Amino acid sequence: MTEAIDEVPADDDVVAATRRQAADAQRVVVKAGTNSLTDDDSNLDDAKLDKLVDDIADLRKRDKDVLLVSSGAIGAGIGRVGLGAVSRDTVEESQALSTVGQSHLMRRYTESFERYDLKVAQILVTQQDLDDVERFTNFRNTIETLLDWGIVPIINENDAVATAEIRIGDNDMLASSIAIGADVDLLVTLTDVGGVYTGNPKHDPDAERIGAVSDNYDMVQDIIGASATDEFGGIRTKVEGARDVSEHGVPAIIAASTEPDVLERIANAEPVGTIFLPINGDTDD
Ligand code: GLU
Repeated sequence: MTEAIDEVPADDDVVAATRRQAADAQRVVVKAGTNSLTDDDSNLDDAKLDKLVDDIADLRKRDKDVLLVSSGAIGAGIGRVGLGAVSRDTVEESQALSTVGQSHLMRRYTESFERYDLKVAQILVTQQDLDDVERFTNFRNTIETLLDWGIVPIINENDAVATAEIRIGDNDMLASSIAIGADVDLLVTLTDVGGVYTGNPKHDPDAERIGAVSDNYDMVQDIIGASATDEFGGIRTKVEGARDVSEHGVPAIIAASTEPDVLERIANAEPVGTIFLPINGDTDD
């Protein structure tokens, strides 16, 4: 693991204060991508899913409210229907795959959270739902009630009815909109790389992790533009989503889903992944 760097060094005290602010967050959106839930053959990976649930249970033990935005429906659907038996060349195929994978995903989440006596709820939304004031109010009311009951809402895009082309990264923006609109104190985007790097860490061994993003955002965008590919799990939308959240005064962290106890470490204010400092936000308690 490489040392984290700050290309334009953010003030260490400000970064540390933001880490503490993130650690103290009472309400957290955790976003998990398809690669963090499925294996190379596009089957739901039980060990990965259980690890994510273990990490979320760590936050629940601290009495934090957690909203999980989970991808993986289309991915799990591919494995479920039979790799090779179907293609996902068309939007219709992706939509159909999502319906197979989503129910499978929820069954596994239900079982996995039961290990901690935690109940889950499924919410499928589209960006249009979140953009509509009345629908968003309904969404929020449902979330508040579930959280009051100690239930973990698991949210995904309603791919079956999303009329716009299903795009990779939709859930990054969905997670960001929810974090901004539902009084959330922290967004954690879990992915298969350990944060934002100076290059694409999958291909460039010299790529170094950027510890904090604040005034160096333009430079980060340049790096992302040069290094990101459109492959599933691309970093661009994760960075955009985290930036949007930080522009609303809320910290955001991009970190590796494979990192041991990743959410526990964040709740201990440890320097995990890349933190986006709130802009015009208050980093004091
Ligand atoms: N909603 C899609 C799925 O669950 C994923 C979209 C995304 O990764 O942004 O398969």
